[in-house]
Amino acid sequence: MTDHENFRPRYDVVVVGARCAGASTAMLLARAGARVLLVDRQTYGSDIVSTHALMRAGVLQLKRWGVLGRLLAAGTPEIDVTTFHYGAESFRIDIKPEHDVDFLIAPRRTVIDRILVDAAREAGASVRHGVAVTHLEVDANGRVCGVTLRDHDDSIVTVACDMVIGADGRLSTVARRVKAPTNVDGTHASGYVYGYYAGLPNDGTHWYFERGTAAGVIPTNDNQHCVFVSVPRDSFAAVFRKDLEGGFLKTAAANSPVLRDAVQKARPMSRLRGFGGGAGYLRQSYGPGWALVGDAGYFKDPLTAHGITDALRDAEILSRAILSGGDQALARYQNERDTLSRPLLDVTDTIASFAWNLDEVKDHHLRLSEAMNTETNHVAGFSGRDDLAA
Ligand SMILES: Cc1cc2nc3c(=O)[nH]c(=O)nc-3n(C[C@H](O)[C@H](O)[C@H](O)COP(=O)(O)OP(=O)(O)OC[C@H]3O[C@@H](n4cnc5c(N)ncnc54)[C@H](O)[C@@H]3O)c2cc1C
Repeated sequence: MTDHENFRPRYDVVVVGARCAGASTAMLLARAGARVLLVDRQTYGSDIVSTHALMRAGVLQLKRWGVLGRLLAAGTPEIDVTTFHYGAESFRIDIKPEHDVDFLIAPRRTVIDRILVDAAREAGASVRHGVAVTHLEVDANGRVCGVTLRDHDDSIVTVACDMVIGADGRLSTVARRVKAPTNVDGTHASGYVYGYYAGLPNDGTHWYFERGTAAGVIPTNDNQHCVFVSVPRDSFAAVFRKDLEGGFLKTAAANSPVLRDAVQKARPMSRLRGFGGGAGYLRQSYGPGWALVGDAGYFKDPLTAHGITDALRDAEILSRAILSGGDQALARYQNERDTLSRPLLDVTDTIASFAWNLDEVKDHHLRLSEAMNTETNHVAGFSGRDDLAA
């Protein structure tokens, strides 16, 4: 970096973490005229452990914000059908037009995070990659009033601001520094292994469920498919530690021998990546001079593929709260987030328990679908207040 001289002495907002939650919050605040600094310790355009499926509310946000076209132009395929497989039974569902959205997408994180960072920069945010927040500055009244930044060559700079937003993921430094309490704890977690393949049929997303396991196929950029398998967290080491690829194929076959055969015939385009699991939570997400958004404040198991959609939702709820000002605005943000998130977190936790038979998991998916409809209707309601849209 060594462009510390480019930091202003003071910002309205410093956003820590430049991915879906942080970059979109920075974009929205900068569009409204706030002086925003967006920092991330990783490099611009880098990848992260995550698959990519976006739900309708997430696609709607990207469309309203004027960035959906860029994602499509980057080769992100439109997904117009999704198939749920419960053992030998399959349900194929066309994505029907609703709320101005008639397809879903699943962009690589190297694509969507970069496009959101570009949009934040174009809106006027200062963006710095390769810079970690190590400490928060706190004034005599206990209010967060700045950040200490460390660059990759270990130089240190302190920046003052009115508010620090932690969009820095599950292991959030900001949450740790402000000692944000956890208000709701999930119980269950799944372990995940995924990789990218070329040569699979273009037939939308597929979600597979069998007793004690799940899997999926998600079409993404570069004509590739992301294929994942999932098992209860407690079984993760036993299934994958000795033989990652063998465990991956065995788990794919347990879900569907057809899936295993298709994967074996396809061309692997990456190494397999794993995620050992983490239980969900809702954290206290505001305090004097600070707020949390995205996984920093609210996480749930990846098995319902919903973290990015919720991050895009909450970026807007938080931005509107900050812009409206007032003592109660951030409390309203947390309340709105929690009201929408609690049903999603609860049903996700239940699905991640793997303590279901195939009829029961179908019921859990119906509950999930209801919570997603409520969320989409809520996000569609932002459209009446499109001052933050593109
Ligand atoms: C295996 C797996 C599969 C998933 N699949 C899906 C899916 O299909 N669909 C979906 O919607 N969600 C999925 N998720 C969830 C999704 O990845 C998260 O919800 C999403 O990444 C949250 O985004 P975020 O911006 O809040 O945080 P993150 O994406 O975690 O980004 C946080 C950023 O903060 C930066 N950072 C951290 N600490 C600091 C610091 N001190 N200083 C500066 N920068 C810092 C990091 O470098 C990082 O870039 C999956 C998650 C996992 C683990």
